[in-house]
Amino acid sequence: MKKYIWIIILIALGFAFVCNTNSPSAASESMAVNDSTQNKKTDERENMVEIKKSEEEWKKILTPEQYRVLREKGTERPFTGKFYKNEETGIYVCAACGNELFSSETKYESGSGWPSYWQPVSENSVRYVTDTSHGMIRTEVVCARCGGHLGHVFDDGPAPTGKRYCINSISLDFKKKDSGK
Ligand code: FE
Repeated sequence: MKKYIWIIILIALGFAFVCNTNSPSAASESMAVNDSTQNKKTDERENMVEIKKSEEEWKKILTPEQYRVLREKGTERPFTGKFYKNEETGIYVCAACGNELFSSETKYESGSGWPSYWQPVSENSVRYVTDTSHGMIRTEVVCARCGGHLGHVFDDGPAPTGKRYCINSISLDFKKKDSGK
């Protein structure tokens, strides 16, 4: 009988030992899950919180011409936009939702007739959509917050990025930087 008790004790100890050696990996697995959750939260913070509105709501907020460009992917006539020749210092924001899009520091004269920038204010401020309309393959640039059409990006821009963000003035508002700051 004693012999069986010892066998049971030894099996129990062995089981406890196995569990113990497994536990660190279980803990690291748990940490990995926590890390993944943490990363997800960080990504969510970095990603833009999207604004969803019905087309009827957008029609109430935007002028007919803004609606045509921002929501129906229209294009304003070149050399007519209010910001084409703007050389003031400040930030260009989305005319529909106020999302900061481009800095005057990256604006340049491209000769295209539209305000042109060589980079957006951050990677998260805009999104890119493949546009196959008009028999061309272009990269459409949209506001990351409201999805409004801004323009297109091309690979013929200046250094340091080599990009030309060709943007409709009517999709933008301008926040002039206060002097003295
Ligand atoms: Fe927007």
